[in-house]
Amino acid sequence: MRAFYSGQFVLPLPPGHRFPMSRYALLRDRLLEHLPSVEMEQAPRATDGELALAHTPQWIAAVSDGSVSTHAMREIGFPWSEAMVERSRRSTGATIAACRAAFAGGVAANMAGGTHHAHADKGGGFCVFNDAAVAARLMQAEHGRSGRQLRVAVVDLDVHQGNGTASIFRNDPSVFTLSLHGQKNFPFRKEASDLDVELPDGCGDAEYLTALEQALDELDRRFSPGLVIYLAGADPFERDRLGRLKLSFDGLEARDRRVFDWAWQRRIPLAFAMAGGYATDIAETVQVQVGTFRVAFEYWRRWQNAAR
Ligand SMILES: [Zn+2]
Repeated sequence: MRAFYSGQFVLPLPPGHRFPMSRYALLRDRLLEHLPSVEMEQAPRATDGELALAHTPQWIAAVSDGSVSTHAMREIGFPWSEAMVERSRRSTGATIAACRAAFAGGVAANMAGGTHHAHADKGGGFCVFNDAAVAARLMQAEHGRSGRQLRVAVVDLDVHQGNGTASIFRNDPSVFTLSLHGQKNFPFRKEASDLDVELPDGCGDAEYLTALEQALDELDRRFSPGLVIYLAGADPFERDRLGRLKLSFDGLEARDRRVFDWAWQRRIPLAFAMAGGYATDIAETVQVQVGTFRVAFEYWRRWQNAAR
């Protein structure tokens, strides 16, 4: 299984910044240790033309040349730097590469990404460009044939609402946006996804898995995707600092299994990205992510066995 990584995912931040950059290197180390068959590859950089599939030229230019307003940078939550631009482009390129790899091998990963708070013309909540949105549009351009457009489902199980993704695809019936998220959590002004499921503070495994089951049923009734982009946020975890939900390691593994199995049963290629994860002990966030990779790898093998 191919997984796209970049050294540029790690952004130098001021001391005491609350974003846990160390988790990227930690995930890489843990995968090398526990899942050595995962093939890690350097992520390509998304070009201006690719980014323009989901973003305004003004936003791409402002991010690239550092002319983003102080207010807009504050909404992102990172200081501007060349490294931030590079990170954002690579992170988007990684989801593009993962989607292409998923078409070839069934399942593939971005070891970062899931920057779902980025809108067409602005960032927010540690997100600069919307990797899933750019990748979905690019895959449609690459795979649309004889008037039949590729349909993409973005299954966003990060604990925060995918407001940027929802806003980008608001009037686009070819992309279905599903978001399961904490009702009382950031962003406080939510956008309308095709399907939003709001969960109460303290929601545990059983309640969450029931809600997921109902959401996938509804997705089945309303849409038939040719590609799934899965945001496997680790922040619904019970010891996450920002999550407010109470999912256990087992509950998160069951969540992942349900999504991978759902796509596998329908033989829909699936690319996944890490999205959020802010456990007090960051090693626990990475443990959730490694769990996602373990399940993903299992389903990737099924694809390979079926192709033989
Ligand atoms: Zn999140």
